[in-house]
Amino acid sequence: MTTDLIIVGGGLSGGLLAHRLAERHPKLRLRLLEAGPTLGGNHTWSFHDTDLTPAQRAWLAPFIAHHWPGHDVAFEGFTRAFATGYAAITSHCFDSTLRASLGEAVQCDTPVTAIARGQVRLSDGSLLHAAAVIDARGYQRPTRPGPLAWQNFFGQELRFTAPHGLTRPLLMDATVTQLGGFRFVYVLPFTADTALVEDTYYADEPGVDQALLRGRIADYLAAKGWQVADLIREEAGSLPIPLAATPPAIPGPVPTIGMRAGLAHPTTGYSLAEAVRLADRIAALPSLSADSIAAAIDTHLKRAAARQGFFRLVNRMLFLAAAPTDRHRAMRRFYQLPNRVIAHFYAGQVDAADIARILIGRPPVPFFAGLRAAFGDGTAPTVPIPQAGE
Ligand SMILES: Cc1cc2nc3c(=O)[nH]c(=O)nc-3n(C[C@H](O)[C@H](O)[C@H](O)COP(=O)(O)OP(=O)(O)OC[C@H]3O[C@@H](n4cnc5c(N)ncnc54)[C@H](O)[C@@H]3O)c2cc1C
Repeated sequence: MTTDLIIVGGGLSGGLLAHRLAERHPKLRLRLLEAGPTLGGNHTWSFHDTDLTPAQRAWLAPFIAHHWPGHDVAFEGFTRAFATGYAAITSHCFDSTLRASLGEAVQCDTPVTAIARGQVRLSDGSLLHAAAVIDARGYQRPTRPGPLAWQNFFGQELRFTAPHGLTRPLLMDATVTQLGGFRFVYVLPFTADTALVEDTYYADEPGVDQALLRGRIADYLAAKGWQVADLIREEAGSLPIPLAATPPAIPGPVPTIGMRAGLAHPTTGYSLAEAVRLADRIAALPSLSADSIAAAIDTHLKRAAARQGFFRLVNRMLFLAAAPTDRHRAMRRFYQLPNRVIAHFYAGQVDAADIARILIGRPPVPFFAGLRAAFGDGTAPTVPIPQAGE
C-alpha cells in the first residue's frame, strides 16, 4: 500500500491531527501507528470553551464526552463561579471517535522502534515507507530540558452511594491542607453519582505516591460526606512546568508534534488547545507534501515558543521567586482577576493588557523578588532547581 503520511503515536496530538486530516483531505492515504492496544491511553483531557474558537469546538464535538455550562473555584474565604463552559474528552470516547473517522488507517499494537524521514521501523523489524512521517510519541524528557517544575496529580473516577450534589466542575478546591507545594483537588462530576476526583500538586520534583494520594482523596471524600460505591478507574501524571526563558531545541530530522515538541501550556501543562491549533494549521495546507508539513510544523513551533515567553516568566515567578507556601496566595489572587484575563491566560493567548494586569496591577509575588528570579541568573532564592540534564 502506498502511504502519503504516517503519524507515529495515536495519543492526543497524533489522533487529533489524523482526524482533522481525514476530514479535510479524505483522499490522503494515512496511517496512524499506536504502540498500545487502544488510542489515547488512559486519560481525561479537559479544556475551557474559551481555549478554542467556535470552529475548533465544532470539529472537536464528536470527541467530547461531557460538557458543563460553567465551573467553580474555591480558596479559603473565597469562592468564584465562572460562566465559562468546560468540556472533557475521555480516552474511551477518543478511541471510538477516531476508529469511526479513520477506519483501517488506525493500527494499534504497533510499536515503532525507529523513525526517519520517509520511513519507520516496526518492532518486528519491518520497514514502512511514506512520503511524510510525523513523530507524535508523547513526552520525552529532552537531553537538556533546562530547569523544570512539575504538576503532579493522581485521580480516581468513582461511583458514590448517593448523589454528590455537584452539577459543574470544581476546577480548583484549594481549601484543602497545603502540602508538597501548591495543592488543590479537582472534581469533574460526570453524572449525579459519579465523578473524577484528582489530587494535584505544583511541586519542585516529579512523581506521584499513589498510595499516599489514595489516602488523601479518601480523606477529602470523607470530609465531603461522599461514600464510595465503586472505583471505576484511576489516572496519574507528572506534567513538566518549564522555567527556562526559551524551549529546548527539538533534536532529529523528523517533524515532531505534541508534548514531545513542547507544545503545551507552560503553566498548566495542558496540551489540548495546542494540538487542536496545530491540527488545523496542517489540515489547512493546500498541499500535504513532506516539505510543506515540515515547514508548517516548524512555523507553528516557533510561534508557540514566542507565545510561551510570558507563561515561562510567570512560572519563574511562581517557582523561583515565591516560596512553595506563597504559590497558594498567588493563585488565589490570580482567580480574582477579570474573567477575560483568566480566559486568555488558560487559552495561552494573552495580550499586552492582560500581561500588564497580571504582572503590574497586582503582582502575585513581591515585585523585586519576581524580577530577580525572572531576569537573573536563574539561581533559586528559596527552592532548589533541578539542573539541566537531570
Ligand atoms: C493523566 C493525564 C491527564 C491529562 N489531562 C489533561 C487535560 O485535562 N487537558 C490537557 O490539555 N492536557 C492534559 N494532560 C497533558 C497532555 O495534554 C497529555 O499528556 C497529552 O496526552 C499529550 O499528548 P501527546 O499526543 O503529546 O502525547 P500522548 O497523548 O501521550 O500520545 C503519545 C502516544 O504515542 C504512543 N507511542 C509512544 N511511543 C510509541 C512508539 N514507539 N510506537 C508507537 N506509538 C508510540 C503512546 O502509546 C501514546 O498513545 C494530561 C496528561 C496526563 C498524563
